[in-house]
Amino acid sequence: MTKRMTADVVIVGASLSAAAAAKRLVDAGYETIALERFGLPRAKPCSGIISPRGHRFLIENFGPLPQEVLHEPTACRGVTFYFPGGVELPMQFDGGMTPHLNRTYSDYWAIKRSGATIHDNMRFIGATDQGTHVDITASNGCEEAYYRARYVIGADGPNSKVVSTLYPGYRDRITWFTVKQHLHEIIECPLDPEYFHYWFHPALGYYTWSHLRNNRQIVGVGYEANHDFRERHERALRYLEERHGVKLGPCNARETSVNNFGLSLINRYVFGRGNIIVTGQAAGFLNMIAEGMSAALHSGAIAGEAVVDAFRLNKPIQEIYRTMIQSEVRRCSDQWNIFKILFGRPHEADFMGTLAKRSLNEKLIVLRDVAKFLAPWGKYNWGRQMLWQAITRQITGGYNPRRWL
Ligand SMILES: Cc1cc2nc3c(=O)[nH]c(=O)nc-3n(C[C@H](O)[C@H](O)[C@H](O)COP(=O)(O)OP(=O)(O)OC[C@H]3O[C@@H](n4cnc5c(N)ncnc54)[C@H](O)[C@@H]3O)c2cc1C
Repeated sequence: MTKRMTADVVIVGASLSAAAAAKRLVDAGYETIALERFGLPRAKPCSGIISPRGHRFLIENFGPLPQEVLHEPTACRGVTFYFPGGVELPMQFDGGMTPHLNRTYSDYWAIKRSGATIHDNMRFIGATDQGTHVDITASNGCEEAYYRARYVIGADGPNSKVVSTLYPGYRDRITWFTVKQHLHEIIECPLDPEYFHYWFHPALGYYTWSHLRNNRQIVGVGYEANHDFRERHERALRYLEERHGVKLGPCNARETSVNNFGLSLINRYVFGRGNIIVTGQAAGFLNMIAEGMSAALHSGAIAGEAVVDAFRLNKPIQEIYRTMIQSEVRRCSDQWNIFKILFGRPHEADFMGTLAKRSLNEKLIVLRDVAKFLAPWGKYNWGRQMLWQAITRQITGGYNPRRWL
């Protein structure tokens, strides 16, 4: 007979969403195992600028941040948007500076603080929902290991194996994006070291950013997966030099990640099936300018709370989770909602307030440049869906749960 390790809950992944879910479960007294494919602490491509809301979550749930979980500079004051027409909009984060996390150590610190039992070097391979419990297969690279749990939480990030196990063929149905960040030696860099810098420039790519980390300058580019990124990077470097006087030496480290960007824009989240629920970026949570950590933490905590309630009330987990997660769906999708952007305040830096202080001419330049930036996105047919979701939100107060998987 197959020998299985048992737990109340198995979480797949040992990152921030997993840590938040585990914290809720362990606090409520449930035996929780987190499976992580890599040996911990593991590397994680990320700029590491957590929003103030995410920062508060970390402190409230895991305590003060130790020095080793931070990069230099240890905090970020805000974000500067650059438009090709020449307008620059620096915006401070609400409530002051926010930490610059070193994801290798911050995630390890959080998952340890959660109190979950960690099985690292243990890759989730598949799961079978037996109705009363879930049987899980994992592997340490040499041999398979078997687990049995009442519930499984998929917190395994954008290219989620839990999601593809639940929905075979899903990976082929969505558009994948790649983000690559290169770390360069600095010769001269006039960009404010306390800010995260972001370019709304269609010729540079879908997502172009730069900031200081440990005396090196990150230059990142995001575009459709399988694109020629070398050429894109060179273009971004040339632009930074010509436009901003940024002179960088050779790149001495690279970080790459594939991303399921787009799901939160069009309200196409993936929350699982039966006794298996999905959370964090695996579920599609990604805030504007790819800030995903605060949504990962909050959605992870909600996943943990939903499981606690399912145990307590002996009710179907999907029903509970899909009701509870609506608050985080609203927070995340509101960031992309045109009505919320124009008339609300969905972000943690005041874009509309900053723009309002500029001259009419600058406002028109920003409007024109944003329109040009959005034009290449037209081929994904997200615009109409986003508008319809925004109208639904105005009428019903929420986003339509029938669009979720
Ligand atoms: C280049 C880049 C820059 C970014 N910058 C920022 C930023 O500045 N601020 C911000 O808030 N967000 C940023 N993000 C987004 C942010 O990193 C993610 O949204 C966030 O980490 C999602 O957290 P998560 O816990 O859902 O998943 P992840 O952090 O992706 O964690 C998933 C975990 O599951 C593990 N795993 C995956 N598959 C398996 C498996 N089969 N078995 C076991 N374990 C598995 C992974 O190894 C990983 O540890 C950035 C992302 C990228 C790529």
